[in-house]
Amino acid sequence: MSKEYNITLIPGDGIGPEVTEAAVHVIEAAGVNVNWEVVEAGEKVIEKYGTPLPDYVLNSIEKNKIALKGPITTPVGKGFRSVNVALRQKFNLYANVRPIKTYKGIKSRYDNVDLVIVRENTEDLYAGIEHKIGDYAAESIKIITKDASEKIAKFAFDLAKNEGRKKVTAVHKANIMKFSDGLFLNTVREVSKNYEEIEFEDVIVDAMSMKLVQTPENYDVLVMPNLYGDILSDMGAGLVGGLGVVPGGNIGKDIAVFESVHGSAPDIAGKGIANPLATILSSVMMLRYIGENEAAEKIDAAIAKVLEEGSKLTVDLGGSASTKEFTEEVIKKLK
Ligand code: ATP
Repeated sequence: MSKEYNITLIPGDGIGPEVTEAAVHVIEAAGVNVNWEVVEAGEKVIEKYGTPLPDYVLNSIEKNKIALKGPITTPVGKGFRSVNVALRQKFNLYANVRPIKTYKGIKSRYDNVDLVIVRENTEDLYAGIEHKIGDYAAESIKIITKDASEKIAKFAFDLAKNEGRKKVTAVHKANIMKFSDGLFLNTVREVSKNYEEIEFEDVIVDAMSMKLVQTPENYDVLVMPNLYGDILSDMGAGLVGGLGVVPGGNIGKDIAVFESVHGSAPDIAGKGIANPLATILSSVMMLRYIGENEAAEKIDAAIAKVLEEGSKLTVDLGGSASTKEFTEEVIKKLK
């Protein structure tokens, strides 16, 4: 009897239920035995519980230590914090990992991008420390600590080492923000000395944006503070075919939440046409995290085949297949 895993499943808002259902089916077809604890969060529970993130969601994640999450909409102007930011802060999921990779069959200007963005997930301008100065100014405070910079740097170098990657690039703006980004850069540089087998370089964020568009194939692991990571992740998605393609994981000391980079896409919700690829790939990251490497490889290979054949691509990738048709094709290739 194979091992059974207890994993929290948050279907989420918009296209969330459709794309997480697809991931559940694929994992099941790959033979991994998961007992999914389904907990609802987001818009649909606000009326009943007065919050998009009720305690039962937090309790479930705390208990199972691992979750697969669909996107959750943050209601604008209703006084709720972002569920995503709240989860990251509550469980100190300090590393946000987003692999950006080209696949044969997905239209892109590039054909050999394979990099990982490691984004610090808990501080920087996301610390939420802002105030108005009368009606004529406002101030947002950017917090960078040595401790968080050290943790994210170690995470990036360990990831490079474990995945057999060759180079870590620190992205920053230390020439202007000499104290905050300066601290980040110096800390990453210090950490790099413990990993002599991995090349280290640093690039200023504006130059990085240009280089990523010109020669993305030159980069391997990129480590950066929160805001630059937010922006370059979406740009990275643009390099390899868009938001439907890029997975992600929020990883802490002993808890991890996996989710795609894209949001709830309300414009196509309920139509059965959302691309489940980013969420399926997020679940593949999750399988690797729990040590189910063989199943992860199998799913990766099945996806690569479906994409290369190209007859079952979803609408965002220029095809006409539904969410279900794409998912069924992946499952067919698994078998
Ligand atoms: P949210 O408010 O939850 O962030 P959003 O609509 O502002 O949602 P996204 O959902 O991230 O932002 O994406 C923007 C657009 O990209 C969507 O409206 C949709 O048209 C497209 N898109 C995003 N994800 C997918 C997907 N998985 N499949 C197909 N199209 C997608």
